[in-house]
Amino acid sequence: MKENIILTGDRPTGKLHIGHFVGSLRERVKLQNEGNYKEMLIMIADMQALTDNSGNPQKVRDNIIEVMLDYLSVGLDPEKTIFFVQSEIKALTELTMYYMNLVTLPRLLRNPTVKSEIKMRGYDNDTTGVPVGFANYPISQAADITAFKANVVPVGDDQLPMIEQTREIVKSFNNTYNEVLIMPNAKIPDNKVCCRLPGTDGNAKMSKSLGNGIYLSDTKEEVKRKVMSMYTDPNHLKISDPGNVEENTVFTYLDAFCTDEDFIKYLPEYKNLDELKNHYRRGGLGDVKIKQFLNQVLEGVLEPIREKRKYYEQRIPEVIEILKLGTAKANSLANETLNEVKHAIGIDYFNEEFLNEQLNKFSK
Ligand code: ATP
Ligand code: MG
Repeated sequence: MKENIILTGDRPTGKLHIGHFVGSLRERVKLQNEGNYKEMLIMIADMQALTDNSGNPQKVRDNIIEVMLDYLSVGLDPEKTIFFVQSEIKALTELTMYYMNLVTLPRLLRNPTVKSEIKMRGYDNDTTGVPVGFANYPISQAADITAFKANVVPVGDDQLPMIEQTREIVKSFNNTYNEVLIMPNAKIPDNKVCCRLPGTDGNAKMSKSLGNGIYLSDTKEEVKRKVMSMYTDPNHLKISDPGNVEENTVFTYLDAFCTDEDFIKYLPEYKNLDELKNHYRRGGLGDVKIKQFLNQVLEGVLEPIREKRKYYEQRIPEVIEILKLGTAKANSLANETLNEVKHAIGIDYFNEEFLNEQLNKFSK
């Protein structure tokens, strides 16, 4: 029986990049096309984006449709997947309120991803200046996941602490009230480099907020310019020098993207990436050559995505309609769970059960 409920999301803080592609989008398309699920949902996390962009709501507004275009252009299909906007699902806010009572403040601030984001966003280390909403976003993410009873969450590894927090909330809720919530599992990429793709500047994570990305919507020229100016091995000065492939972002991207077919097509003098790496390690292989190869490999992936994006850019009313319909479906699913949650806590009052309880109590 198809029982899986798959849910993921992205913050509309910018267009999506190749880190999103290898970290999560590629897996979502694969899961979607395998079809082994009851429901597949993708959320545009605008409320979460506001937690650290409260002064710049225009950025969030501007990126809703950009992110939708990215989804559709990688092959996510509205016939198979429900797309929705987080802020339109009121049940999520309400669930967050109930879950907030199940998590301590120190537990929230211990979250490693939140900790590193606090640093990255320039908030003080002693957490002065951190908005409550920002510290609280892992709880709101637990609401997003549990509202749809998702059990599979395909994400990059920066999201593992969020799934862990969600699991703790599920356990605590079910123990305290009743077995209503479903335990989710993160699905991170098998290929380790895809779990957290570094930025073109060699920074530990390609991120919309750091401006170090190659975007799915970049032009051919932009991609080439970014690839050709990428960080490699700083000690590999002459072609004949032996080179390091380990902390070399060009090789990291090749690890994430290239296939043996790419070698047949573009670099037939090598059989596979191992042979190319060995030549680089020995010396005698120049950076320009490996960058040109990476550019060809990326173009093989990005060109069809760009074409599809152009198609949907000509059909914006249709794109908005897809999101609107998806949001309506998501709303009815989340409301069902909210009703169960309220019933489990015992804060549903306007029904027969409550009436009878009160009649019994006051008739004694
Ligand atoms: P922001 O800087 O605003 O947080 P972001 O680039 O981190 O943006 P998110 O919307 O937070 O993007 O993440 C969406 C999904 O993409 C998550 O599942 C996350 O794990 C994954 N992801 C983001 N960046 C990368 C990356 N560099 N490598 C692999 N996966 C990534
Ligand atoms: Mg992020």
